[in-house]
Amino acid sequence: MKKTLLILLILVQVAVAQAQRPTIGISCSWSASKISVLNTYITSVIKAGGLPVVIPLSDNEELLSEYLDGIDALIMTGGEDYNPLLFGEEPVQALGEVSPDRDFYDLTLIKKAIEKGVPLLGICRGMQGINIAFGGTLYQDIPSTYGNKYIKHEQSLPGKWGSHTISIDKNSLLYEILGTEKTIVGSRHHQSVNKLAPGFTVTSRATDGIVEAMEKRDGKAVILGVQFHPEDMTAGGDTQMLKIFEYLIKQAQKK
Ligand code: MN
Repeated sequence: MKKTLLILLILVQVAVAQAQRPTIGISCSWSASKISVLNTYITSVIKAGGLPVVIPLSDNEELLSEYLDGIDALIMTGGEDYNPLLFGEEPVQALGEVSPDRDFYDLTLIKKAIEKGVPLLGICRGMQGINIAFGGTLYQDIPSTYGNKYIKHEQSLPGKWGSHTISIDKNSLLYEILGTEKTIVGSRHHQSVNKLAPGFTVTSRATDGIVEAMEKRDGKAVILGVQFHPEDMTAGGDTQMLKIFEYLIKQAQKK
């Protein structure tokens, strides 16, 4: 009898511990009619104490809205280029693969998450989407549109290694999270923020001036965008980049 009670007690404790994990929605990639998410995002959320849930691609706004009601924070992931028509530009020659289906899904999730006060972390394409959703523009291709002096942002070394330096404003959320004005990040992009969306602040740049982070803290919930890839380094064992995910989990618990 005592043994049964003990087992019951343990089961209840396990259930409570699991219930305390906030649910973190993760946006997916879509190609050839399949959705996918890199495991590095999943691993990072679990390492930081969250319960990852992948939100399937859909053009049904009501369905996406219901998903947002069921999560405590949202991560918008990296991926294809954005269609430049979305921000009033014609495509340049070096534009990569675009996916209008995913553009619609991403921008709907971003706009609705912010309306609903869901804490939001945008990574790479995720940050670019936040900028477009609120009226900003992108460099469609850094090498052909940014100017003469730029570093290599589209790196191919394994993601657990950082590839270029960023500076971080002292008066920023990213500084509060990472506690440093300079660090090395993983970089896999050829597009980047050009005109910043109104209401946002640039808080980090690469040595060539490319925007590496943006934020907005005066809305219903915090919005943080990073151009680099903290999930790759976190999955590879980095504990500094893990702090970005731990911060999101804390915000999710407050919600
Ligand atoms: Mn970069």
